[in-house]
Amino acid sequence: MTFLGEIKTELLSLKIKKICCMTSEIRGILAFGGVAFNEGVFFGTDSFELAKRLSIFLRKVLNIDFMERLDEEAGSYKFFLPENVLYELGLGIEDGVITELNNKEDESCCMRAFIRGAFLASGSASNPERAYRVEIFTENKAFYDKAFNIISSMGIDCKKAKRKNLYVIYGNNSENASDILKVTEASGAVFKMLDAKIEKEKRNKANRLMNFDMANIDRISENSEREARAIRLIEEKIGLDNLKPNLRLVAKLRMENEGASLRELCEMCDPPLAKSTLNNRLNKLIQIAKELSDD
Ligand SMILES: [Zn+2]
Repeated sequence: MTFLGEIKTELLSLKIKKICCMTSEIRGILAFGGVAFNEGVFFGTDSFELAKRLSIFLRKVLNIDFMERLDEEAGSYKFFLPENVLYELGLGIEDGVITELNNKEDESCCMRAFIRGAFLASGSASNPERAYRVEIFTENKAFYDKAFNIISSMGIDCKKAKRKNLYVIYGNNSENASDILKVTEASGAVFKMLDAKIEKEKRNKANRLMNFDMANIDRISENSEREARAIRLIEEKIGLDNLKPNLRLVAKLRMENEGASLRELCEMCDPPLAKSTLNNRLNKLIQIAKELSDD
């Protein structure tokens, strides 16, 4: 199942007890998914679960059966709500567009229900393993403003955009995308999104560490190569036997262990040398080689 499918399944299984919230969820569904049509609003869906939920809520809120018998096999479900019924829900139709006659989202429970309805009717979400993105879209400017105001009023940094004739409210990072889902009360989906984020961060951290190790190895081999080159030059020009004993020892050690790190070389000395001492001696060898090559 897609992440969007999982979110919707979770939302459709949320138990709602209060009539106020059922009303707001119906309003959200109709505002974002309904089409004004011949003095009523038409709503169609392919989701049996959504159709069932809408039927139950409509019966509980308005005591009317919009679908006496829901056939689970039908595959597509259609509702038609005439204007007098819309009126009961605080909605109307003006110039062929659904309008709001009364605001019914005063309480935060109802605001959430309204956004949940909007998302169920017209929401989308990316798989959080690829991107953090949650959207709710509509052609209806008034309901777009309303939903944006509700979500923003909860302190969420949601974004708005106009895409051709669609108005889009969206979250485009793990924080605002999961916050929008939180408004709809899809807590399982929120958890999954944040979990995907943690996994991704872990992977990125492991990659960074690996890159750091690789850089370290590169640096070690670069230094080692430079030192070995210097020592070979000294050997050619004057012979290692002409070096002071402590430098000669280090020169031989480096030649025998090309590619070893400074610390490894220190440990090979008997007694072990301090890193700074060894480093000074290697630098001294490079210095000598430089002088020899200038001659
Ligand atoms: Zn409520």
